[in-house]
Amino acid sequence: MKIACYSTKSYDRESFNRFLPDSGHTFSFFEAKLDLHTVSLAEGHEVICSFVNDHVDEAIIKKLERLGIKLIALRCAGYNQINLKAAAEHGIKIVRVPAYSPEAVAEHAFALILTLARKTHKAYNRVRENNFSLEGLTGVNIHGKTIGVIGTGAIGRAFCRIAKGFGCSIIAYDVFENEEMKQMGVKYLPLNEVLSGSHIISLHCPLTPETHHLINVQTISLMQNGVALINTSRGALIETKAVIKALKTGKIGFLGIDVYEQEENIFFKNLSEEIMQDEQIARLMTFPNVLVTGHQAFLTKEALEQISKITLSNITAFEKGEALVNEVKAS
Ligand code: NAD
Repeated sequence: MKIACYSTKSYDRESFNRFLPDSGHTFSFFEAKLDLHTVSLAEGHEVICSFVNDHVDEAIIKKLERLGIKLIALRCAGYNQINLKAAAEHGIKIVRVPAYSPEAVAEHAFALILTLARKTHKAYNRVRENNFSLEGLTGVNIHGKTIGVIGTGAIGRAFCRIAKGFGCSIIAYDVFENEEMKQMGVKYLPLNEVLSGSHIISLHCPLTPETHHLINVQTISLMQNGVALINTSRGALIETKAVIKALKTGKIGFLGIDVYEQEENIFFKNLSEEIMQDEQIARLMTFPNVLVTGHQAFLTKEALEQISKITLSNITAFEKGEALVNEVKAS
């Protein structure tokens, strides 16, 4: 099939090009994000392949239908950016890559925790200037801490396994409790109790209308003073304004985020020569106890390989009229 691939970076192209020759499909790689200005690039293709910040709203869906697109192959797990109802109404199917490497994201969440806990980001800069002073580098142990996990799906579970290895107590909230996790010693509690009982809180639930701004003024007030908050899931789980306020008072002691509420116009771009217009991310960068990465938790060699393979097999299944095991539908 002919696939128009949006928001392509060099690593996407390299990874897909390894598997394309055996797939029978051809990709046109576009660096542009999918929007009303770029949707026409899909002309002459049968499928589009999009990523996390390619917003597929009703207007885009209508244009895609007119261009003859029958399938949107997401090369990511989250699908909050897609209007599923509109896609169904216009006869466009959606497939995704539900679990390419849960460990990649879980390990990145832990990298954020360890960096913030042991201030290795500061140490890295310091020693490069031959400053070997340890003043201000006192950290905290992870061992023995209580970690609260919101969402124990594929990534949350991988995260719990790592936390267990560190000797943490794990409490969790999910709308569905997982037996494997319970047997491993994870204690499921109501959301409020997870928020109030944790030294470290890590978010691993999807962004839905129910979870939008899950972390807000009210839920932050339940947390322990100096809590560490980690978000590798989706930016809008956190009300950024409320978190900035809590960082200023010390209520939140550490913040590690790989996703940001307004990341759409910032992440995946080199803006180093430009004036940052987003006041909230600019403010976040000023805190010494905040670590921001630009949605890179998924970005490992292993994960890219899986993303390419599963995306191509999703497209092949569609072409052959087989069952779409990775289809997402409006509920
Ligand atoms: P998953 O579907 O396996 O698990 C999600 C879990 O969240 C499920 O157990 C589900 O029951 C639970 N859940 C749903 N609604 C909830 C609610 N209201 N409260 C608590 N729990 C709820 O998904 P996953 O593969 O573990 O991925 C989790 C999220 O991570 C994705 O939705 C995506 O947004 C994000 N993600 C981020 C990156 C990155 O690079 N930063 C990469 C992949 C995925």
